[in-house]
Amino acid sequence: MQFKLVFTPSGGVRIVRIRRRRRRTLPDTPEVAELRKAARDYLPGRLAELASEHGFSYNSVRIKHNVSNWGSCSAKGNINLNLNLMRLPEELRDYVMLHELCHLKQLNHGPEFHALLESVCPGHRELQKQLRNYRLI
Ligand SMILES: [Zn+2]
Repeated sequence: MQFKLVFTPSGGVRIVRIRRRRRRTLPDTPEVAELRKAARDYLPGRLAELASEHGFSYNSVRIKHNVSNWGSCSAKGNINLNLNLMRLPEELRDYVMLHELCHLKQLNHGPEFHALLESVCPGHRELQKQLRNYRLI
């Protein structure tokens, strides 16, 4: 916590805590707003479909806009999906969602994780490579 001295008009001095005004997220550009809407309409339903098809159960799903990952999965079974997934071809979108679902059982990228992912998403290594051709916006 940081403080500053404020000299009041009446000649007094006050110690005031400095509040950080950093925004946690930037406002959406029109393009991002459109992606967010499409992502909210589509991704939770598709994730539920893939999960029931392959026998996974997760706790929650949230749509995120960040520049560091396409998706993530916590130890508590909370899945985050990047709204940028809506810019991908369907098979890559599914690959990312299946990847995160597999983390419900394997919270790492070890051999067992890849074996599990291959069983639900055959050819996933190739899809993983293709994903590198796309950038997050
Ligand atoms: Zn992963």
